[in-house]
Amino acid sequence: MANQSELDRKYFIDHKRYNCPFCNSRSVVYSVEGREEFDWSDNRKVWIYRITCGGCGKTSLHLSDYKFSDHKYSYGVYHSHFQNKPEDQDGNDRDDYDSNNLDDFFFYHQPTSFFTINALIPKLIRDLVSEADGCGKMNFLVGASGSLRKAIYELLKNQGADGNQYEEKIKWLKDKFPNVYPEYFDALANIQDMTSENLHEKEGSWEPWQRNDFYYLLETVKAVLEEIYVKPEERKLMLGRITSLKSKATLTQRPKK
Ligand SMILES: [Zn+2]
Repeated sequence: MANQSELDRKYFIDHKRYNCPFCNSRSVVYSVEGREEFDWSDNRKVWIYRITCGGCGKTSLHLSDYKFSDHKYSYGVYHSHFQNKPEDQDGNDRDDYDSNNLDDFFFYHQPTSFFTINALIPKLIRDLVSEADGCGKMNFLVGASGSLRKAIYELLKNQGADGNQYEEKIKWLKDKFPNVYPEYFDALANIQDMTSENLHEKEGSWEPWQRNDFYYLLETVKAVLEEIYVKPEERKLMLGRITSLKSKATLTQRPKK
């Protein structure tokens, strides 16, 4: 079973509940308001789904390469939309579908999810990573690479990283967080064309990353952000819970013989 932080990172939790990007309610009921299709290109169809939040009533838009039927009769009951196995471009059912992996069947959401990146991470960095993620999904690699580069610069700034060169700053961060896997920082240190001051960074003075490189760096940045901003808070919360349980426990107050 997925833990809470994995669920928070999803857009759709299953066919009934999602993390609303408007009211930021976690695990709130939604409804599928409509489905339309259009031709993305000569040989690619795309389906548009409109989703309305059961809490705040606002409607978001989602794009998928898959068609989910409005109604299908199965096992004696009518199932609707995301309860059904979707059809791919050739009209074949995707048998690997399970509504717990609904997110895998979408390539674009508007608004992009607030929850995919934990709220404990500073907003400026979170927005840049969301932007990079969104551009990457649309295959806009120039925008995706640019946003991710800016996110790394903002991370260094937010942490007050010391050093003259970019690599020195990453090294400083690596030393500051000895409990984080050093591989993550080494990956960031190896990025070419990063300057010591992002102010000097001119558009077009660097090459956008290839798709696989981009996803490798995106996931690395997310892992670093999680380690720096999220995990310490989660540990504090857990300690708080244990401490409060301890205050009620009698285990330590054994009668003396
Ligand atoms: Zn809502």
